[in-house]
Amino acid sequence: MIGKLLTVSSIFIAILASGFYARFRQIEASHVPSGIQSTSFDEVAPDLYRFGRTWTLVKTVLEVHISTFLIKSGKDYILIDAGVPSANYTDHLIPALKAATKHGNLRWILLTHGHTDHIGSLPALLEAFPKAQLAMHILEAPYVGGGVSYAAVPADNWVYVVSRRLLPPDDLHLPVHRLLFLAGESGDVSEAKGSAGQAPAWVPPAGLLEYVHVPGHAPGQMAFLHRPSSSLLPADVITNLGGTAFFGKPAPAALGYPPPGSSCNWTQHALDWQALAKLDFTTAFPSHDIETGVPKAAVVESAEKLAPLKASA
Ligand SMILES: [Zn+2]
Repeated sequence: MIGKLLTVSSIFIAILASGFYARFRQIEASHVPSGIQSTSFDEVAPDLYRFGRTWTLVKTVLEVHISTFLIKSGKDYILIDAGVPSANYTDHLIPALKAATKHGNLRWILLTHGHTDHIGSLPALLEAFPKAQLAMHILEAPYVGGGVSYAAVPADNWVYVVSRRLLPPDDLHLPVHRLLFLAGESGDVSEAKGSAGQAPAWVPPAGLLEYVHVPGHAPGQMAFLHRPSSSLLPADVITNLGGTAFFGKPAPAALGYPPPGSSCNWTQHALDWQALAKLDFTTAFPSHDIETGVPKAAVVESAEKLAPLKASA
């Protein structure tokens, strides 16, 4: 109980510090209005579904909207990310996922990165879907259940250094035989290999889903391109949240970076955004998005506008 309280208060202090820093830097922070609460996976592009809920730690003060995505390929499904460690999330996510995949198979849970708000429901998901494999970038593996703290990552901004030291590492015990890894700067997710280099029992068809390594926010973060729907899943390179500060009035959604305390390398983060803006896609679906995706033109325009701010961080 005390451990949980310490964790929640550490998260609170860390994100609050990020909020003040963000305001100082005139960067959009992540106050979002409550109320977007999915109970099912909704199709946002052909064969691409989204489930999103707002994670409330302190109402109207510390809230974040976080989505998971489901990709359909015939009767096979891939879940992208695993939500937050909250019953209010998990208790809706599991039934929604069971309903969405009831005529097929959830083959993979594929992680963009290992931050708490992207892996929080993972233990419950692995239990509810015992045949699903868990895939991630090899560079993210130490932080996803490997017991290594994100505080060990070399950072180029003090807010990250301070806030990450307040957060304990996630202590997940992941079954090694269910792990798959991707490596390198980019490729097709069908190139994933088992922990001993073996071929997986199932891989999606080549050309369905490509990955791009975008390490500014987390060492092994990946963005994904869903080719059939021309969609980009940029993970936390791009956020589309409302509001400009904590304790502030809710404001319309705006493209921006996540709070500085959450990204290890802001210079690289700017380069990641610029790299994603050059890819071939129609709509981007950030993990933190209170609208239904962002057109490519807005991603390109914001990349040009926001990148210089970050490069000098
Ligand atoms: Zn993150």
